Amino acid sequence: MNYYSTRDENKTAPVSAAQAIKQGLADDGGLFVPETLPTLTRDFLRALCADDYAARAAKIMKLFLDDYTYEELLSDCQAAYAPTSFRGGAAPLVAVGDKDLYSLELWHGPTAAFKDMALQIMPRLLSRALKKTGEDRTALILVATSGDTGKAALEGYRDIDQTKMIVFYPVDGVSRVQKLQMATQEGENVRVVAIRGNFDDAQTGVKRIFGDSVVADRLNKGGYLLSSANSINWGRLLPQIVYYVSAWCDLTNEGKLHEGEVFNVCVPTGNFGNIFAAYLARRMGLPIGRLICASNQNHVLTDFLRTGTYDRNRAFHLTMSPSMDILISSNLERLLYFTAGSAVTADCMKQLNQNGCYTVPAEVKAEIDRAFVGYYADEQQTAAAITKAWAENGYLSDTHTAVALSCAEQYRTETGDMTPMVVASTASPYKFANNVYRAIAKAEPTDDLAALYELSALTATDIPYPLSGLAERTVRFSDVIDASDMTSAVYDTLGL
Ligand SMILES: *Cc1c(COP(=O)(O)O)cnc(C)c1O
Repeated sequence: MNYYSTRDENKTAPVSAAQAIKQGLADDGGLFVPETLPTLTRDFLRALCADDYAARAAKIMKLFLDDYTYEELLSDCQAAYAPTSFRGGAAPLVAVGDKDLYSLELWHGPTAAFKDMALQIMPRLLSRALKKTGEDRTALILVATSGDTGKAALEGYRDIDQTKMIVFYPVDGVSRVQKLQMATQEGENVRVVAIRGNFDDAQTGVKRIFGDSVVADRLNKGGYLLSSANSINWGRLLPQIVYYVSAWCDLTNEGKLHEGEVFNVCVPTGNFGNIFAAYLARRMGLPIGRLICASNQNHVLTDFLRTGTYDRNRAFHLTMSPSMDILISSNLERLLYFTAGSAVTADCMKQLNQNGCYTVPAEVKAEIDRAFVGYYADEQQTAAAITKAWAENGYLSDTHTAVALSCAEQYRTETGDMTPMVVASTASPYKFANNVYRAIAKAEPTDDLAALYELSALTATDIPYPLSGLAERTVRFSDVIDASDMTSAVYDTLGL
């Protein structure tokens, strides 16, 4: 199967799956998409129901990655989703109350958040892609992080063959828990460096290194190629299709869904990656009815889905669901491609770059409306959803999941559509323990580390293993540098 850029109107530059994963972004600035979407036949789906998560993942990914063997994919998926790492299961489906509402818990992995679902497997796909494309250099992955993505990337790339990773974070811009998580990171091929400055300084520094031909040249001579762990990489999107199919299998196995019945999916959305994966599953034939796109106070997507106009020119809000505080949802470009084609996509992206806004043609809006509906939850509604899920259903929800729970309820109330609903649960409540504690205890936690223990005591639930005993772990990385010294830190790490 070939991959093309979303902006490649005449399909002039096909690449293999391995090349798309190695390259990340297409040369014209577009995102890679497969030339066709495979169909999930009834027989294929039925057979999947008997498989465990790793086999389900390998079989679905094989449909898209025909330059990988099934054995390679199965072995990588078994390693990625091992029970030692996903101790609560890879993507368990948990009933919330008795109204056919289910939480698809995607956070039982090594960093207690859903990015693990993709970042545990993507580095393995990349490592193989290097070999498949005859690349003998080592991929150097540089990440600027405001907290969570950095940790998930570190866990994903640690000790992966032919890769090295350096993560930069703003020294005073992450929480105490996040800092501890990164400073105690294990793995021989990873390094973590704190920057004096804010997240923008770290990100600008990384972008500068990526754009510097002198650096590229020196890295190349030293046997390194620069690569990114960015969420627009096809290798990060593809593994996310799997858990929606897996959820259907679980609902079917449990007799909650019968032949010919559909289910709805509600996803707390930021960059539009997670919900777009659900859309692809739907287009491939998974019986999904509505896709409910859930946003927080930064509801640029809700407005887009309601009006057809995407407008990033607006105030930016810091919310208690920070991973959704996004005004440019990069993966939306792939939805435009699949509903409007390359020409319209390229035009919209140009307008977005120039004016920060665009409007899709009416027939594209109509096509999007057939699948999607947008809702949002403000801060008060988010907190209320946490309080309610716990009080009424004994379900402990994180802040991002709570946005989706609120939106799912708004949708049901407004439409009366009580079709079984799967809510993507994207983080452990302990990942955002302070705000979860506030919503349930109606009191302030002592600090963000203490909040873990206070939430555990309050709800009689366990702190997940990635977040327990943090303060007792050995700190391996304590360097703090000026942002202007980031390039030297790279050379220094690699001994160049
Ligand atoms: C990244 C993230 C999201 C948003 O997912 P997208 O794929 O960017 O839409 C939601 N919740 C959590 C906890 C996340 O880390």
